[in-house]
Amino acid sequence: MNEERVVEIGSDGRCICSCGDVCPLGRVGMSYRCTKEELEAAGIKTTEAPPKKDTEKEARDSWLWNPKVKGSGIIECIPQTGLCPNGCEDCFFQSGRSYLEPLEKNLPHIPTLDMAWGRVVRMNDGNDSNVDRACVETVANGYQDAFFNTSMPIRLAEFPGPFVLTVNPGKMTDTGFHKLDTAPPNMMFARVRVNMWNLQSVVVPAVNDYVGRLHVPVVLTFMAYYSTPVKKGFEGSYHWERRTINPYWVLKRERVDEIERMFWVKDTVYLCGRHGHSLCKDCGNCLREYHATKERLREIEESNGGAR
Ligand code: SF4
Repeated sequence: MNEERVVEIGSDGRCICSCGDVCPLGRVGMSYRCTKEELEAAGIKTTEAPPKKDTEKEARDSWLWNPKVKGSGIIECIPQTGLCPNGCEDCFFQSGRSYLEPLEKNLPHIPTLDMAWGRVVRMNDGNDSNVDRACVETVANGYQDAFFNTSMPIRLAEFPGPFVLTVNPGKMTDTGFHKLDTAPPNMMFARVRVNMWNLQSVVVPAVNDYVGRLHVPVVLTFMAYYSTPVKKGFEGSYHWERRTINPYWVLKRERVDEIERMFWVKDTVYLCGRHGHSLCKDCGNCLREYHATKERLREIEESNGGAR
């Protein structure tokens, strides 16, 4: 037998529904919250939600920060549950050692609106914004500032905000990269995964394509290996070192500097992290490119009389 739905009403007199709840009045998305009067007029029972203040403090006190973004002005958000179906072998999040373990208990990982206020929300570190996309967009729409992360070049221009595309995810890391005909204006940058053995075959062509042809900035992310071994012949370029919270085989600093010098002539090629540190607060690439993209979108909207 179906249990009768009772909708919780917040202190502002409107429903408190979350992603995944079906609106009893058939509305789609969370940008509109039904009022108590509307619900009751439709014969739906309502009840007062517990005071928001306690809930908010509890959420803030129990928040498990991604140590990479903490203190940077970015806050992470993963609305999905379960493992990312992309299953990249070397993903830090899928390794069983992420900051959100056990994932069964700690996902979804969604900051409250108060926690996100004044910060930029990074959708999907540890998953992909094209996985359960409707849910991801619904949650993101509630925030003032949010950007998406995907490694799947699907309906990119339709993301309702800036996005980052990882162009050589998973098994493509060493073999090739996603090519776009044109770059949508909401693209922040192309993220290119770098190791010592894909430099000439993947990284250089990807940089030439995105920076040279499409005029899109590139951020180089240096791969760190844990379960996947470093390719034979390149072991000397790596050492065992802690990166953010766990130790991995990471590229030695002198190799990173060499790679950085390879791209000095390109103004818009950046490294993920800075001076050997992987923390976002030492870097700032994402915030800079997020705001630059928002400005670009704003100019387009203003010149088109409101349409993007
Ligand atoms: S590019 Fe910089 S800000 Fe963006 S994820 Fe990497 S370290 Fe963080």
